[in-house]
Amino acid sequence: MNDRGGHHLKQALIAGGGIGGLAAALSTSRAGWDVRLFERAPAFSEVGAGVQLGPNVVKVLHGWGLAQALEAVAAFPGRLQVRSAVSGQALGELPLGAAMVQRYGAPYVTLHRADLHELLLKAVQQTSARLHLDCPLQSFSQTTQAVTVKAGGGPEIECDALIGADGVWSTVRQQLLGDGLPRRTGHLAYRALVSQASLPDKLRTQHVTVWLGPRMHVVQYPVRSGDWLNVVAIVHGEVAADTDPWDHSANAADLAAALAGSCAALRELVDALAGWRLWALSDRAPMQGAHQQAVGRVALLGDAAHPMLPYLAQGAGMAIEDAAELGHTLAQALDPVFDVPTMLQRYALNRWQRNAQVQARASRNGQIFHADGLLRWGRDAALKVLGEKLLDMPWLYGGVSRVS
Ligand SMILES: Cc1cc2nc3c(=O)[nH]c(=O)nc-3n(C[C@H](O)[C@H](O)[C@H](O)COP(=O)(O)OP(=O)(O)OC[C@H]3O[C@@H](n4cnc5c(N)ncnc54)[C@H](O)[C@@H]3O)c2cc1C
Repeated sequence: MNDRGGHHLKQALIAGGGIGGLAAALSTSRAGWDVRLFERAPAFSEVGAGVQLGPNVVKVLHGWGLAQALEAVAAFPGRLQVRSAVSGQALGELPLGAAMVQRYGAPYVTLHRADLHELLLKAVQQTSARLHLDCPLQSFSQTTQAVTVKAGGGPEIECDALIGADGVWSTVRQQLLGDGLPRRTGHLAYRALVSQASLPDKLRTQHVTVWLGPRMHVVQYPVRSGDWLNVVAIVHGEVAADTDPWDHSANAADLAAALAGSCAALRELVDALAGWRLWALSDRAPMQGAHQQAVGRVALLGDAAHPMLPYLAQGAGMAIEDAAELGHTLAQALDPVFDVPTMLQRYALNRWQRNAQVQARASRNGQIFHADGLLRWGRDAALKVLGEKLLDMPWLYGGVSRVS
C-alpha cells in the first residue's frame, strides 16, 4: 500500500461502474481515499431510458458541485399528475418546480440515465480515481487487516475496503451474504423514448404523469432538457424462462394487448411510440439490519444492497444517498483512531433502515398502483380528496440527517 506525506493512504476498490459505483468513486475519492473502480463491461454505458430524481437526491448532487452539469441536461417538470388509466380522469396532483425547491431546498428533476451517468463519470475523471473497464470482479477474501480481490484475470489486488456496487445480480453480495438470487416479481417494465418534436402537440408534455389501472401503470416524463419524452409501462407477466430478464427488445403488440382496457388518451400515447425495450423486474426483501450491508471490510451499495421495484422512483436515488454517506464515513476512517470495519459498519447503520423503508414503500406502491375493485375505488377517492397530501413525502424528499 502507498504512503502519502507519511500517512497511510487508504485504498478502496469499487466493483461496478453504474450510477451507484460512479457516485461512490466520486465521494470516496474526494474523501481522500485512493480509489480503483472495476467495471465488468468493456465500455461505460447506461440503458436508453429516463430516471426521476427527487430533491433528496438532487441535493446530494448539488453538494458535489454538479448543479450546473445537471441543469444542462435535466428537465424540471412543473407538476406530477395522477390519472386513471381506465377513464383518463385526473385523480390528484403534486406541484413540483418551485414548490419542491421551496419545501426541500432542491428541485425534482427528470433526465436521461446516460446523461446522469456521463456527468458522474466526468466528475470522477477529475479525481485521482482509476477506472478499469472489461474487468469483472471474480472473488475476494478478507482478513481483519485487508481485502484481497481477484478481478479481470489479473494478479490479486489488496485494498483496505471493497465496495460492491455491482447491481441487482451482485457477485460481491453472493460471496458476502450468500443469500441466493433476487426474486422475480412477476412485473414487466416496457420502456421507450421519443423526441417530443415527433409527437402531435397534444401528446407533448413537460410534466410527470402517472396513469393507474388494474394490474398496470404507466409513467411519462420529459428528459434531455425537455426535448425527449420517456415512457415506462409496467404490467403483470413473465418473460420466457430462457430469456435474459434484463433489457431486450419488446413486442409492442404484447404491450398493446396488456393495455387494451385503457382510455383512448393513454392508448394513443403508447401507440405513438416505437422501439420498446423490456425488463423483467426483480427485487429482494429489505435487509434485516446493518450487519447485512457491511461485513468487515466489505460493504454493499445501490442495487447490490437493496434492489427494489421502481414504484417510488428512488433506486438510483438511494444508491446516490448511499455513496454520499460512504464518502462521509470513509473520510473519518482516514483518522487512525477509527478502523475501516467500524466505519463501514457506521455507514451501514446510517443507511440500512432508510433503504429498507424505501424498498418496502416501493413494493406497497405496486399493490396500490395496480389495485382493482374496492381498493381501486378507495384509492381514487382518497387521491381526489387528499391528492397533494398523499403524493408529497417529506420523510423521503426531505433527505437524511446524518448521525456521525
Ligand atoms: C423500469 C425502471 C425504472 C426506474 N426508474 C427509476 C427512477 O425513476 N429513479 C430512480 O432513482 N431509480 C429508478 N430505477 C432504479 C435504478 O435504475 C437502479 O436502482 C440503479 O440504476 C442502480 O444503480 P447501481 O449502480 O446500484 O446498479 P447498476 O446500474 O445495475 O450498475 C451495476 C454495474 O456493475 C457492473 N457489474 C456487474 N457485475 C460486476 C462485476 N462482477 N464486476 C464489475 N462490475 C460488475 C454492471 O456492468 C453495471 O455497470 C428504475 C429501475 C427500473 C428497472
